[in-house]
Amino acid sequence: MNASLVILGSSGAVQTAHRDNVALAFRMEESSVLVDCPGSPFLKLRRAGLDPMLLRALVITHAHPDHIYGLPSLIHHLWMLDRQEPLPLFAPEPEMGKLRGLLDVFDLSRRAGFLEMHPLTADALPTAGGSRPFWEHAGHRLSALSSDHGPPAFAIRWDTPGGARVVYSSDTRPVEAMASFGRDATLFVHEATFLEAEAVRAKEGGHSTAAQAARLATLAGAHRLLLVHLEYRADAAQLVEEARREFAGPVEVPDDGAIYAVE
Ligand SMILES: [Zn+2]
Ligand SMILES: [Zn+2]
Repeated sequence: MNASLVILGSSGAVQTAHRDNVALAFRMEESSVLVDCPGSPFLKLRRAGLDPMLLRALVITHAHPDHIYGLPSLIHHLWMLDRQEPLPLFAPEPEMGKLRGLLDVFDLSRRAGFLEMHPLTADALPTAGGSRPFWEHAGHRLSALSSDHGPPAFAIRWDTPGGARVVYSSDTRPVEAMASFGRDATLFVHEATFLEAEAVRAKEGGHSTAAQAARLATLAGAHRLLLVHLEYRADAAQLVEEARREFAGPVEVPDDGAIYAVE
């Protein structure tokens, strides 16, 4: 079983010299699932040793620019390489029009016949900790939880056939249900755009602080906490230090390109 989480990017909306906008790849043997799609997704998958032609699914957590602007580039690459195998794209139902519009700029909705748009609706979602995945392949299951960001947005959970669990909050204010959704997570990947000193700003912007992320990781009984979606002026060491006061397990801010093996 060769499953791993790849951090393709770790920054919030504004990039830094070393951090690109947040995106994750869930590696499942040779294939993978891409979660969020900022710039140069094809290049970043390749750099991580993943073949973009073997993508099995694409998940867009919400339609803010830092999470979707690479979509036309990815689809154009796959079309150029004559992909035939269907590629399901899951995204919040109310945002499907935006994604189609983005692809239509380049006439890609029509040309990329392999792309299958699957709206994620709040109705179709499991309750917290729910058992109804929206996608399954070879024992790998993906589930979603409505988050609290502003626009419709979802947290994503990946359960592997080996019993590992990876949870990604996407952009959100702290949501209590994330604790049950991410129960016993092997890797609890939560946004920490700000420090607690900027809690008011975090709340206004639909984001979380490192302390809030860590409290949820503790409630979830998570094994390891990864903080992502850093504000461009953030000091990673400070975020980790703040989170460690609330979470007893290992905490880190992953570098772009980091790979975490899971069972
Ligand atoms: Zn974002
Ligand atoms: Zn956002």
